Amino acid sequence: MRVFTCLFTEHNLWFVLLAAIMCVVGATITIRLYRQVVRTEGMSRLGWAFLAAICAGSAIWTTHFIAMLGYQPGTAVTLDSWLTISSGVIAIAGSAIAFLVAGIRRVKFAPMLGGALLGLTITAMHFTGMFAYRVDGIVTWDMGYIIAAIVLAVGFGAAAMHLTPRWHGGWCCMVPSLTLVTGIVLLHFTGMAAFMVEPINGYQPGASSEAFSVMAVAVAIAGALILGTGLATFYIEKRMRETSEEQLRHMALHDPLTGLPNRTSFYARLDARLAGQVAGQTAVAAIDLNRFKEINDSWGHAAGDHVLCELAERLRKFDGARHFAARLGGDEFCIILKTGDEAELQQLVQQLETLLSLPIAYGALETTTGGSIGVAVFPQDGKDRETLVRNADLAMYRAKSDPLQKVCFYNAEIGEIVRERRQLANDLRHAIDNDELALHYQVQTAIGTGEVRGYEALLRWTHPKLGAISPADFIPLAEANGLILPLGDWVLRKACEDAVSWPHPHKVAVNLSAIQLTHSGLPQQIHQVMIETGLPPARLEIELTETALIKDKVQSLHIMRQIKALGVSIALDDFGTGYSSLDTLRTFPFDKIKLDKSFTDELKTDARSLAVVRAVLALAKSLSIPVLAEGIETEEQLALLHSESCDEGQGFLLGRPAPIGIVARLGTRILISGENARPPLAATTARRA
Ligand code: C2E
Ligand code: MG
Ligand code: MG
Repeated sequence: MRVFTCLFTEHNLWFVLLAAIMCVVGATITIRLYRQVVRTEGMSRLGWAFLAAICAGSAIWTTHFIAMLGYQPGTAVTLDSWLTISSGVIAIAGSAIAFLVAGIRRVKFAPMLGGALLGLTITAMHFTGMFAYRVDGIVTWDMGYIIAAIVLAVGFGAAAMHLTPRWHGGWCCMVPSLTLVTGIVLLHFTGMAAFMVEPINGYQPGASSEAFSVMAVAVAIAGALILGTGLATFYIEKRMRETSEEQLRHMALHDPLTGLPNRTSFYARLDARLAGQVAGQTAVAAIDLNRFKEINDSWGHAAGDHVLCELAERLRKFDGARHFAARLGGDEFCIILKTGDEAELQQLVQQLETLLSLPIAYGALETTTGGSIGVAVFPQDGKDRETLVRNADLAMYRAKSDPLQKVCFYNAEIGEIVRERRQLANDLRHAIDNDELALHYQVQTAIGTGEVRGYEALLRWTHPKLGAISPADFIPLAEANGLILPLGDWVLRKACEDAVSWPHPHKVAVNLSAIQLTHSGLPQQIHQVMIETGLPPARLEIELTETALIKDKVQSLHIMRQIKALGVSIALDDFGTGYSSLDTLRTFPFDKIKLDKSFTDELKTDARSLAVVRAVLALAKSLSIPVLAEGIETEEQLALLHSESCDEGQGFLLGRPAPIGIVARLGTRILISGENARPPLAATTARRA
């Protein structure tokens, strides 16, 4: 009752209103800043505790000071300046200690303890301020009210800080602020109720009221500025935090290079779609670029990045951005196609294929990468996300391994074929280490004399379960699975090592895949092998096919020149099966042309084949390049080629591919006999001259 009397009869209510505003605003800001103390660590925590202490101290002190100025004891009043200043210092220092204690994580009740300390701080500040309040009268204190004031301040302070981490978000965050406000208000007015004055010189209404009004407004302005600073800091930090959280979220869900959604967001989006009402209108297209590695290797990573960004942009805008495209990694993209109509799906996939094949400009250069696309449709090709994506992937893998097919729709048969090929690729990966690979050698001779000119190294793989597998099958597999480089290195090294041990210094011819030729380190690799094995470069011949050269003429020519500069010769393999362009012969510095077996086969039966062979031989002669005919199986073919002045020959008639022992047995010249063509030991029976 005395508290209410004190509030309504002994205070100027305008001052009380101003103090209340300061108190509510101050407590709200203080609680927000305190939340930052709880959230942060290390120096940031100290910084926030300092700021919270300044704001809390200022709010408590100005509230108290303005309310006290509004107190009308009915007699003249003066203020002790040192004690008044001390009360402000107590408010700030005590708050700082309270926030630091409240922020200790290891102690469970630290917030409550800090809150209690804040309550004690408010009490200490209040009574120090009251001692600074000098009145012209007899002052008496009521101990009961003093104790009640302390208990209320400590209790509400502890409750406010205890509630802060638990009550946040929306209007809930006002609960701790209002609890603190209640504590401050109750302390002030209960504390004031404990303070009783008996004027000595009689009652003097309005004593010092004008000066006090000015002072109250000045204190309120100063307090508001301090609180404003705290609030501004809080909001600047909040905005920065939200911005960086937004950036982090974006980073977590997007690919940093292209800005497309990444695997995580692709899966999330697909899950959501498959769980929704339009799940039936969903297909997944897995895309893998065909020439990306080549572009990266020959033009550099900046060009590769440019190609990825350009294609990502096309995929993003594809079909008016109706679908959801993502980059899953490397040159792998996936797109959720939102259609349930089969005809439309076919059309969309065709458009995707075109989009991937359009030229991409890079500076003055222009390239196309093309892509292999695998499509799986929900629900028939997969009832859940994992199966659907895996089957789209399998279909893509199938499309990739078939040079004539760029798009493949999943079906169960494909799944089986692809699984088998994957298994085989896996086995091939271990074949080198497990000694399953070997080199066989096939003799190459001068057609007229039978003089041995060299041997072609041909790779053999004996699979532990499947037996001998043809290089025509496993070389493309190695190319598609990134195994051709280690495999090619093994072949080159082994062939050179073997050749060094031969009794005669014949040449050894090694086949190189198109992918090896795109590798700019190839000349250095050959050089290194020459040094390590001790084979003279003049004894090594590299066999390349025309398709390997055509892909990137400039790069191929550059690499070929470097290889030739080492003293190694180069043969054009399978001539007549690829583009067979005269341009290839003119542009690239070949040392030999190997005429494909298909011409030799048809020499007798097809007049046009004979005409082509004649033309090639004449052209080669004019360019001074010797020609070797591949696949000679009959004496008739040999005689015909001899009559057409073909320089060299290779084929079952002259000798079948056989293990290294064949080289020592054949010597320097072979006598042609039909027996040579008999498999498989026939080659070993070819007689020495
Ligand atoms: P290629 O380089 O044109 O090798 C000649 C192929 O023709 C060999 O087949 C050989 O066994 C076969 N051949 C030779 N004479 C005759 C004949 O009179 N009649 C018949 N029917 N065939 C004959 P192979 O060993 O199966 O190799 C096939 C292809 O695999 C090779 O064609 C070559 O392109 C590739 N290859 C083989 N070894 C390697 C290698 O180490 N690296 C690379 N990159 N490719 C290789
Ligand atoms: Mg060859
Ligand atoms: Mg060949």
